[in-house]
Amino acid sequence: MIKKNLAVLGSTGSIGVNTLDVVRQFPDRFKVIGLSCQNQVETMIDQIEEFHPRIVSVGSETAARGLRERYPEPQLKVFWGQDGLERIATEPEVELVVAGIVGAAGLKSSHAALSVGKTLALANKETMVLAGDVMVATARQHGSRILPVDSEHNAVFQALAGHNPQEIEKIILTASGGPFRDRPVETFENITLEEALNHPNWKMGSKITIDSASMMNKGLEVIEARWLFDVSVDKIEVIIHRQSIIHSMVEYQDGSFIAQMGLPDMRVPIAYCLSWPERLPLKIPKMNLSQIAKLQFEQVSGKKFPCLALAFKAARLGGGAPAILNGANEEVVARLLDRQIRFVDIARVLSQVMVQLEQQHHHREAPAFLKKINTVDDALQADAWGRHQAHLVLEKLK
Ligand code: MG
Repeated sequence: MIKKNLAVLGSTGSIGVNTLDVVRQFPDRFKVIGLSCQNQVETMIDQIEEFHPRIVSVGSETAARGLRERYPEPQLKVFWGQDGLERIATEPEVELVVAGIVGAAGLKSSHAALSVGKTLALANKETMVLAGDVMVATARQHGSRILPVDSEHNAVFQALAGHNPQEIEKIILTASGGPFRDRPVETFENITLEEALNHPNWKMGSKITIDSASMMNKGLEVIEARWLFDVSVDKIEVIIHRQSIIHSMVEYQDGSFIAQMGLPDMRVPIAYCLSWPERLPLKIPKMNLSQIAKLQFEQVSGKKFPCLALAFKAARLGGGAPAILNGANEEVVARLLDRQIRFVDIARVLSQVMVQLEQQHHHREAPAFLKKINTVDDALQADAWGRHQAHLVLEKLK
């Protein structure tokens, strides 16, 4: 059997580790050519020993030097930083790039992969949130494909297979509701960092876990879906589904709902992207429907989760608004993880950033990236603008 050559960006994070677990189950199907990590070099050394990539990238020059001493060329080519990520993403041997990096840091390498015709298994939602327009255009221009790894988008992708996109009535993204779905809104002021980091259904990195608790994650997913499936924001809905068994669904104009179900396990969407359009005989725990017994659906409370409405607003404004909101959110979440602000401050800061944005948006001398994102650099400028605005609001908060 011909093996598919993979690169895994962010190989020590939760997407990367799950991807390598799928590869481990199917050694005849996949070959790991490239790996990258930011800081967890020791973990990556274990991965190098097991998967024997030919090219890797790490976060710093110092870490790269250490690795070069340990694995001299030509056994392994070692790079570092953004350039290193782009080297791996465009390596001629690589067919499919798994984009598992968290945050805006993953943007350039995703774009680089699409620019040379690679298939991009996309877990980095910021790629579409910041520059969805650019990514879709680049993929079209170079005949590259974007396969969504994010469980909701992977579910929609599966529910769309064999259907006519013209017949979509709604795309319905499910949300677990996070740790605070049942918490009375009056007690939100007292939410601690530990409570916010304690997700009931999924084990993920800390940034995305906080975003799940605030439901900003779902908001970013709405923006991601808008670009991935080329639908207007008004056709996208969010519903709380606490069991996380239905990963999302598509409602068609004849009243049919097509949903994708399964236990919450990231290896399922990852494997689907790695082997698409085939399905792999994946070894994972089997879902027992009678044990699950019931599936519930509830409306999202706007009072509890104001971040979701902010994301819808940014999606409707378009242009640089999603990138700005995302950049600002990354800043405030970092402050929360640093224990400098409280959980409720996230939405407070972000709504002020959005007010600033709306005021500037109509201004004649406003920077062009507020209105339209034409390049990856525009998106990064909008992201920086959002971060800067968040800083200004955070300063006043002190
Ligand atoms: Mg998701």
